[in-house]
Amino acid sequence: MAPPMLCPVCAEEQVIVEYEGVELDLCVEGHGIWFDDQELHMLLESVDSVGAAKSLESTFEAIPSPPGETPKRCPRCSTPMEHVRAPADPDPVILDRCRHGHGLWFDAGELRAVLAKHASTEDSPIARVYEHLSAFESGADHGAEE
Ligand SMILES: [Zn+2]
Ligand SMILES: [Zn+2]
Repeated sequence: MAPPMLCPVCAEEQVIVEYEGVELDLCVEGHGIWFDDQELHMLLESVDSVGAAKSLESTFEAIPSPPGETPKRCPRCSTPMEHVRAPADPDPVILDRCRHGHGLWFDAGELRAVLAKHASTEDSPIARVYEHLSAFESGADHGAEE
């Protein structure tokens, strides 16, 4: 097994949560969730929504980082990540993506917002993923304090 990755926000070791055969890396402090390259696609594919996975990723759009901002670094290669804007509900969210294709970082709540945009009906496969991951995200909330 690969060594645990560090959260791009707090640099604590992330915990690995397996869902539908896909390993997800979550910050124990509740900062967010990391998807290695293809993991988001595999996750959605595993719940039988290949079309949804393709359409989801095609909605991500690279945008310039605001001047003066310190970019988060990729937990795999430590390269500063680029921003991508993703349609979400109620407002678009800004995700961090490794320029070398290692993966995507969702800050807390961002994954929920993105999936909510695509969960058109309550029993859609994306809605089930959304329900499941919401439980992880909210479960981590109590550990976050600054
Ligand atoms: Zn963290
Ligand atoms: Zn990387």
